[in-house]
Amino acid sequence: MSFDKNTNPLKLHHVIGDMEADYIYTPGIAGDKFFKTLRDEGKFLATHCESCDHTYLPPRMYCERCFLKLDKWIEAESTGVVDTFTLVSEDSNGDKLTEPVLVAFIRIDKTNGGVIHKLGGIDAESAKVGMKVKAVLKDKSKRTGGLTDIAHFTPQ
Ligand SMILES: [Zn+2]
Repeated sequence: MSFDKNTNPLKLHHVIGDMEADYIYTPGIAGDKFFKTLRDEGKFLATHCESCDHTYLPPRMYCERCFLKLDKWIEAESTGVVDTFTLVSEDSNGDKLTEPVLVAFIRIDKTNGGVIHKLGGIDAESAKVGMKVKAVLKDKSKRTGGLTDIAHFTPQ
């Protein structure tokens, strides 16, 4: 293999190997406040744009529709509706899970947003789009300030 600069796009170089890519994802100011409030108070926070009458959960610092700065924080419900769901049988590395996990997108009540999370206390055959669910939080002593502070959502 030659390491000379290739100026001909038809003569591609191929390098076989692994490329390590480490990264850190920060939640931002709004996400930080959301996760700390979830951890410390067990509440879901959202931001509201009065101009658009749109409630963001997860919260945003700026309205994605009209670009206004959002400083009206509201406590959102911890209930919602299953918008869609699937049964996951592999982890993010492609390894088979010992037990499949029900995962859903849950639209949080009285907001225009939602979260992707596990469904618990229900089997796949009983899960339905449109079913009402509520968040089950981990014990406060076990919360770490992440979405995993929600153990799962379960039918209301
Ligand atoms: Zn707006």
